[in-house]
Amino acid sequence: MNEATAGSVLVLNSGSSSIKFQLIHPESGESSATGLIERIGEPHGRIVYHHGGGVEERYVAIPDHRAGLTMAANIIAETGLDLRKAGIIAVGHRLVHGGDVFYKPTIIDDAVVQSISNLSSLAPLHNPANVIGIEVARAALPDIPHVGVFDTAFFHTLPAEAATYAIDRKVAKENGIRRYGFHGTSHQYVSARAAEFLGKDLNDLNQIVLHLGNGASASAIRGGRAIDTSMGLTPLEGLVMGTRCGDIDPGVVLHLHQSAGLSIEQIDDLLNRNSGVKGLAGVNDFRTLLTLVGEGDESAKLAYDVYIHRLRKYVGAYLVELGGVDVITFTAGVGENNPDVRRDSLAGLGRLGIVVDDERNSSTSTVARRISSDSSAVQVLVVPTDEELAIARAAAELVGGYATAQD
Ligand code: AMP
Repeated sequence: MNEATAGSVLVLNSGSSSIKFQLIHPESGESSATGLIERIGEPHGRIVYHHGGGVEERYVAIPDHRAGLTMAANIIAETGLDLRKAGIIAVGHRLVHGGDVFYKPTIIDDAVVQSISNLSSLAPLHNPANVIGIEVARAALPDIPHVGVFDTAFFHTLPAEAATYAIDRKVAKENGIRRYGFHGTSHQYVSARAAEFLGKDLNDLNQIVLHLGNGASASAIRGGRAIDTSMGLTPLEGLVMGTRCGDIDPGVVLHLHQSAGLSIEQIDDLLNRNSGVKGLAGVNDFRTLLTLVGEGDESAKLAYDVYIHRLRKYVGAYLVELGGVDVITFTAGVGENNPDVRRDSLAGLGRLGIVVDDERNSSTSTVARRISSDSSAVQVLVVPTDEELAIARAAAELVGGYATAQD
């Protein structure tokens, strides 16, 4: 058995156009190997594998997910790690849509794979890719338990008034149309870490978590349970994102189809891949956007203002829904790294007890930290998210290899 990897969980995130994997120890959080397979289906795919100080990088056409996973398995074996003898206690699969069926970490068997596949109409880009990841990994590691951790699970507790769209109830029921929410693993992990950082009981806190990455979502959490979130049936609803529009009048979709003659596929592409910051400013990376804002680019400035406006709207809504908030936490790529967004999204809220301290907010620290001033009644934090660790812990807990503080 390999000592460096014994007791680890292999976390696999088989996404729509890329696959990430990480061998991570659930208790220490230390990662002994990580890999990324990207640009699947494009002529110039890329596989990067970091292991014990070494890096393997290959540029090769990766026709599909199955081929990508096979290539990754070959690289892992060639560089000396035998996954079957590595002492791995579980494989944790990041799964996007659990629908109404899955709301906690679940041991994957054939019936579970079938159910995830059946939910594909709710997440056509993600669930089929997730299923391929499961199939390949189960075939490669048949003697290790495989655990599914669902992005929608944390929002299973949304009260009916937050989960329900005001459309014909029969149509909604027949088609599984409700608000499911996404990024749940991150919102759950970050809210628990925020309580831990403050030395408070999670059950006593009203929290708002702002997960601001390329995809972005907000959640309102009371006593550790989500009571609202900004994403809905799909990850398209809510905040302005890198390439997604977030909230939009559904009449826009009808208009684009009926009057402008766009097909459903074209509208899907427009709203999911060519809207948000990219649609407004032509770039989806927030660092580039800020550079353009600094250069006086008007489109970039508008994109930034729309982004902040939407964010403030959600903070306001959740403040009222929660009836007051104890802690607001920023996380993910933009939330962890961008002081401008943090400052502007909470500016001028002193009378609501929310005051961000400029100096603390400017710190480039990469650990959990407070950025509110001492006079702020509401604690404002930055907490790095770690979905892989959260998945590793959930999987290990289910197979008996890790105990949370609550146990
Ligand atoms: P994620 O989806 O969480 O990986 O976040 C990706 C987003 O975070 C991209 O828009 C990046 O531009 C943004 N991001 C990452 N690092 C920084 C940084 N240092 N400053 C500003 N934005 C950043």
